[in-house]
Amino acid sequence: MHDSSWGRVVLKLSGEAFAGGEQQGIDPGVVQYVAEAVAAAVSEGIEVAVVVGGGNMFRGAAMAEHGMERGRADYMGMLGTVINCLALQDFLERLGVETRVQTAIHMSQVAEAYIPRRAVRHLEKGRVVIFGAGLGAPFFSTDTTAAQRALEIGAQAVLKGTQVDGVYDSDPHRNPNAVRFDRLDYNEVLTRGLKVMDATAVSLCMDNGLPIVVFDLMGEGNIVRAVRGEKIGTIVCP
Ligand code: UDP
Repeated sequence: MHDSSWGRVVLKLSGEAFAGGEQQGIDPGVVQYVAEAVAAAVSEGIEVAVVVGGGNMFRGAAMAEHGMERGRADYMGMLGTVINCLALQDFLERLGVETRVQTAIHMSQVAEAYIPRRAVRHLEKGRVVIFGAGLGAPFFSTDTTAAQRALEIGAQAVLKGTQVDGVYDSDPHRNPNAVRFDRLDYNEVLTRGLKVMDATAVSLCMDNGLPIVVFDLMGEGNIVRAVRGEKIGTIVCP
């Protein structure tokens, strides 16, 4: 068994990660890697729900800058997340992991509707629940979705897998002297404008004392370590 302090977690995967090194699309190698790690975590008895982003498909705000109506563009963004969800579902099921995709926008041929109590039941049965279509509302992000879903299903943490190994005081790709934080409080994240999650997501976590762990998604063994509750990346907590 695991030595985790978490029994149930929400893992947030960005759409960008799904694209691998590309700007758009899905890199099967990345999805396979993530699916194997999630399968390993679940086999240790930890309940894992996943919120998948859609930046590799479509970003509403970016299209709105080209004149598209923001609401419509955001709905396109939400639909993009569902494509990623189905990819992850397929890779997980081929590894023998039972999954359910639940979407905030109804599309009964491909996924269940988001029903929180049913999601909890799936998790209790050892299934991985993958949440798609964000919150089902424009002007939000899948980071905020991860925080909201975690709160509603009673998860103990949001684990945000990113391209960097934690939160820095400046961009480590540009500044070689950037300093990484082991631990932060929510206010510091908000007042310093640190890149953890968007402000809506961070405030939701702050108001409810929900820890956020930011870690390097593609680092060997990192997903399992994060899900186990091992010390990794940066933790934002009360
Ligand atoms: N989106 C939305 N409402 C939500 C979640 C997502 O409108 O609750 C849209 C928004 O257009 C966003 C896109 O879906 O740009 C993809 O989500 P996000 O940018 O959060 O994906 P990630 O950055 O994690 O890949």
